Amino acid sequence: MIHKHSWKGLDNCMKMCYRGFSLFIALFLLAACAPALEPPEVLDAEAKVESEKLQDRAVDLQIRRLQRVVDVWTRLKRANVSFCGKDVHGSLNVGILHAEMLPESLRGAYRRRTGHIRAPQFIHVVGGGPAAKAGIQVGDSVIQVNGDTLTKRDELSEWTDDTLYRPIQRGQMVQLVLNRPDVTTPITLSVTPTKACNYGIFVMSDDLINAYADGKRVSITAGMLRFLKNDDQLAWILAHELAHNVYGLNNMGFKGEYYADYVASYFTARAGYDPVEIIDFWERLGAEDPEGLRLEGREVHPSTTIRIMKLRRTAQEIADKKVVGTPLQPNTGLENFK
Ligand SMILES: [Zn+2]
Repeated sequence: MIHKHSWKGLDNCMKMCYRGFSLFIALFLLAACAPALEPPEVLDAEAKVESEKLQDRAVDLQIRRLQRVVDVWTRLKRANVSFCGKDVHGSLNVGILHAEMLPESLRGAYRRRTGHIRAPQFIHVVGGGPAAKAGIQVGDSVIQVNGDTLTKRDELSEWTDDTLYRPIQRGQMVQLVLNRPDVTTPITLSVTPTKACNYGIFVMSDDLINAYADGKRVSITAGMLRFLKNDDQLAWILAHELAHNVYGLNNMGFKGEYYADYVASYFTARAGYDPVEIIDFWERLGAEDPEGLRLEGREVHPSTTIRIMKLRRTAQEIADKKVVGTPLQPNTGLENFK
């Protein structure tokens, strides 16, 4: 686009120059045109270096986003496991990544970053979880699980799913051999998973401010992550979607949404986050989308105004329980919820 514009600019300028302006002005315009005669040149080798630098930044952004989401999501799934019924599995409380999990355009940059180690790598270790206690560190890559070594013949995604994830999700102790950057000999350690709600999390590159649940998974958009001011707000958004999955609240209308909001504030507080913070989120969203403030609500969405008022009361209810030391359990189930 930029290339096209500069030629068009030159063309216009030339036409004007030939229309009999005074010599002074003509010379002035020609002088102004001069730099455009030679568009800035970019050498292929320089462009390659720049492109790699920018791709590295893109990988950094993806990883930081995943770390943030995994951290908050894991704390929620750990603190609220008693609400998840049979939807429970074993978890090391970590974020694991390998090149094939990233968009194709970023795989080269990710491989450069990891020193071309072809193995799943820990990109986040949640504090207080089994992996943190066993001494697993961010940057460690898994090269062997229970005596099964990853080879070049193994398909990376398949090996990660079958050999690494499966025993962990069953809650079995795993013996891992890890490569640690800057440590020459591999590290062997054992780790026993803890229980957590069994719902996956996905970050969509979408710009919309949105999050959704499908009964098994929760998805959140990059647009939402940019709009959220802190992890307390992120925790509540994820907790709302967690509530949809736990209580099967999809397609239940306003009552389902209000109940998801109510329970989300409890899930948020139980995981150590502040449920007051989400009120700022809804106030800012209301300002961006004033249609949503109408008291009658819109389509499947209840009124933002009513949500804010209910959320303030729920936050107060939770704060009161904290003062007297009452367990943080929602007062009612969905059946009796008004
Ligand atoms: Zn909802």
